[in-house]
Amino acid sequence: MSESKLDDEASYKIQCNDQVGRYLVAGRDLEPGAEILTELPFVVGPKASTYPLCLTCYTPWPPTEDDDNKPLCPRCGWPVCGDECADQPQHRDYECKVFAEAKEKFNVELALSDEQANGVPQLECVTPLRLLLASERDGDRWNREVKDMAAHDKRRSQTAQWNSDRVNIAEYLRTRCKLDRFPEDSVQTACGILEINAHEVRTARGFLARALYPKVSIMSHSCVSNTVHSIVPNDFRVYLRTAVKVPAGGELLGSYTHALLPTLLRREYLQESKYFTCACTRCSDPTELGTHMSSLKCQKCDNGVVVALDSLDAESTWKCTHCEFSTTAQAVLKILKIIQAEMDRVEAYTAADGPEAIQTRENYMKKYRSVFHPRHAMLTIPRYSLSQLYGRVEDYFLDDMPDVVLEHKAEMCRLLLQVLDVVEPGLTRSRGMILYELHAPLLFLAKGQWNAGVIDAAKLKTKMTEAASLLKEAADILAREPQGTPEADIAAGARQALEQLDKSIGEL
Ligand SMILES: [Zn+2]
Ligand SMILES: [Zn+2]
Ligand SMILES: [Zn+2]
Ligand SMILES: [Zn+2]
Repeated sequence: MSESKLDDEASYKIQCNDQVGRYLVAGRDLEPGAEILTELPFVVGPKASTYPLCLTCYTPWPPTEDDDNKPLCPRCGWPVCGDECADQPQHRDYECKVFAEAKEKFNVELALSDEQANGVPQLECVTPLRLLLASERDGDRWNREVKDMAAHDKRRSQTAQWNSDRVNIAEYLRTRCKLDRFPEDSVQTACGILEINAHEVRTARGFLARALYPKVSIMSHSCVSNTVHSIVPNDFRVYLRTAVKVPAGGELLGSYTHALLPTLLRREYLQESKYFTCACTRCSDPTELGTHMSSLKCQKCDNGVVVALDSLDAESTWKCTHCEFSTTAQAVLKILKIIQAEMDRVEAYTAADGPEAIQTRENYMKKYRSVFHPRHAMLTIPRYSLSQLYGRVEDYFLDDMPDVVLEHKAEMCRLLLQVLDVVEPGLTRSRGMILYELHAPLLFLAKGQWNAGVIDAAKLKTKMTEAASLLKEAADILAREPQGTPEADIAAGARQALEQLDKSIGEL
């Protein structure tokens, strides 16, 4: 009934049942932050739909603005940054040989045309091809860890993606690349394994790719996970740790979706891209465990919120808690989609865009304040960005911010922590980042009050000590992130700031 395997001093066991297949449980009592396992990816490669990029380091291609510089691999004629990238094993020993032998060249002109601005179909085959070649090269690991990973061939065969994969990947590899030794169904299974299980990874330079982690993928999903994973940017090794305490035998859970989305959008994403229906504790609760990340403000009365009667039913009635107003889940979903599209446009502004990044988000927040509960997901996501933008963009550096803006930043962080403490509890990156963001305005406000003579030295010391404890918690969480990630840099900054702060507190 239950197959179990001991590894890493039994920090985890693999178990199996008829409902979900294989899953992971804690092999012993695990404290928050305990390492569960680490593994290298079975395969790494470009994402399913991608702009032109270097096949080795995933840098957008061509690598420079210079029109004459369009480096191609001297053997196969596919895009790389230069000779160094062309000679790396992940390219040289995999697709390079196949393309070179089949004399199948990369179509530069087509890939750079406006027509393919949303993704280059010719590049879709690279990662599935690497997976198929790896299955031959590392047959042991393939048989032991990969071949039984969920691919959902039957359900996928009803989708448009399946047809697109048949043309752009299976037929392309089997005819143009002369790889008819891989039957069409094996290619589709490889595509399915990647579609359902691959993790997004980030290179040291911040570019995206995808990687397959067979052991991590055994974990079942929950919209409130009790684990965190970090990925090292150079070799893409993953470290899986507990976020909170997990007792021996307790199930280890990861999240396959964005934790800050509302239930209707999370469940739709999981259904459409992972082919399962989530019924976790968070999805089952119309208030999302009291966070109200899905609750709407009632437009018919003053103090009601509108929530689903049954949040697991996609056709449920949504009803006000105080008056007779009701609507349908379909109507709510429709509104969410429209607002999500607007939010995505707003969220595309980064710190590099300067003050506009803050102003566009604030305008959006103002516009929808009367529609959503203050902690609704559609306000929480831009608030998360805002909490980091205040203090980091021109005109809004901490030194320039008047008290009222400092208070605003602190208030946003507190509201975010109310949500994160529930949906991403424990030693998670998001909590670490927001604790870090909260300490700074508190410190600036306290110093301002002391300078103005509003508080005495004892009160200042109390406030600084509070800020120091937030900073310490942030540093402890973020210090677990691998070198080369932005979080690790913030952790290093936080440690320095903490030393400084402890010293100032000592001198008071
Ligand atoms: Zn490169
Ligand atoms: Zn090549
Ligand atoms: Zn769920
Ligand atoms: Zn009402």
